[in-house]
Amino acid sequence: MNSNLYGLLGLVAAVCFILALKGLSSPKSARRGNIIGAIGATLGTILVFWAPGGHHKNLIPILGAIAFGVLVGVPAARRIQMTQMPQLVALFNGVGGGAAALVSTVEYLRLGKGATSAEIIATVFTVVVGCVSFSGSIITFLKLQEIMTTRPVVFPGGRFVIAGTLAALLGSAGWVINSGGTKPLVIMGALALAFGVLFVLPVGGADVPIVISLLNAFTGLTVAASGYVLQATLLIVAGTLVGASGTILTRLMAAAMGRSLFGTLFGAFTAKPQESSGAAEVRSVKSGSADDVAILLNYAQRVVIVPGFGLAVAQAQHTVRELADLLASKGVDVAYGIHPVAGRMPGHMNVLLAEANVPYEQLVEMEEVNPTFPQTDVVLVVGANDVVNPAAKTTPGCPIYGMPILDVAQAGNVIFLKRSMRPGFAGIENELLYDPKTTLLFGDAKDSLTKVVSALKAL
Ligand code: NDP
Repeated sequence: MNSNLYGLLGLVAAVCFILALKGLSSPKSARRGNIIGAIGATLGTILVFWAPGGHHKNLIPILGAIAFGVLVGVPAARRIQMTQMPQLVALFNGVGGGAAALVSTVEYLRLGKGATSAEIIATVFTVVVGCVSFSGSIITFLKLQEIMTTRPVVFPGGRFVIAGTLAALLGSAGWVINSGGTKPLVIMGALALAFGVLFVLPVGGADVPIVISLLNAFTGLTVAASGYVLQATLLIVAGTLVGASGTILTRLMAAAMGRSLFGTLFGAFTAKPQESSGAAEVRSVKSGSADDVAILLNYAQRVVIVPGFGLAVAQAQHTVRELADLLASKGVDVAYGIHPVAGRMPGHMNVLLAEANVPYEQLVEMEEVNPTFPQTDVVLVVGANDVVNPAAKTTPGCPIYGMPILDVAQAGNVIFLKRSMRPGFAGIENELLYDPKTTLLFGDAKDSLTKVVSALKAL
């Protein structure tokens, strides 16, 4: 293909990526943004086959690899539950980092002695960061899928092991840059893989999605560096976009959880093991029926619905909308209080509620909804726990201490829809469940909401 046309089509793909990010910044345009991004990625993939002066020697294995990726990736992405999305992102992201490391290794070996210093440094960067991203992402996947413990894995002398591995990794990188060759490169790759594992093991369950986002940013930078080695502008653009947006997302998530990034990554090294609370104390809670809840809601002037992870598990988004519409038709002022980390990924609740066509104006962000709780008669907590847990403010040292929460305790009445007394993701008790103004309606959120809707219709 003519190199001008090739460059122009590459520019079109790059513009698609930028427009995709712009679209993804609002729930209304997110679907369109996603499609534009997919078009850009497809164009970029097809375009490589027509690269000017490109070598098409290995067409069969390349097409075979693409077919394999499609056969594995498409069913996996279709079958996955939305609640398992962070694991899938972790896995895809890790594979991306690993692939970039492999590709630039191959290119480095092909260039041999002809590689420039800049190319060698870019290769070292790609292999180190790509391998860290690969092995770290596999550990985050295993944690989120609960194949291994979600608790921080800390062992005696751990901080020395990780510091020693990092020092060895940096030393081996210097070795590759100085003397080149396959052996130092392989040793450096192995150390980077080990460092990725050690880096993620001490991170606790609730912080894992932040680390996924960070590794995602790492993968972006790896791809950009491999683009430099391969002289592929589109890879540099796409990788830089992923690196930059991943870094912004990581910072936003850490801020929403009241964490510093440093504390998330290295906090476990200074943390003391959690003390077990011993024999569970039996305390009484006030549980109610769907009729009790319907009566409370029927006489309320303002109701705030707080959705959480359990709403996603129960797939109760349509039923919750039905309830909100019914209340609105009775003249009740209804809003949804959205916590930035409710659910298991940023924007999880917005996506779920958008699926049920909940009017976007009814979704109120945490900062705006919090001051309204004292004037709210009833808060209906649908499958949320940590994001309303006052321990975030009152219990120093607990895993969510410092995370801003939805201050639902300020409202007149609080109703929790959950199945049991089990805690939320962070694994800690919620004192609000025992508060005299709290009523618990036990059961699957969708079943409970359906019953409340029928009871409300009958009133
Ligand atoms: P939680 O995990 O704290 O609580 C979920 C609640 O839903 C549990 O109390 C559970 O209780 C209940 N539940 C589960 N299934 C059902 C069901 N079918 N019907 C009714 N209830 C159900 O969720 P939150 O949304 O409050 O908090 C999110 C957590 O995830 C926070 O700890 C946050 O830090 C963490 N996190 C989120 C990220 C994000 O980007 N969104 C990123 C990083 C971390 P029971 O089992 O008794 O039913």
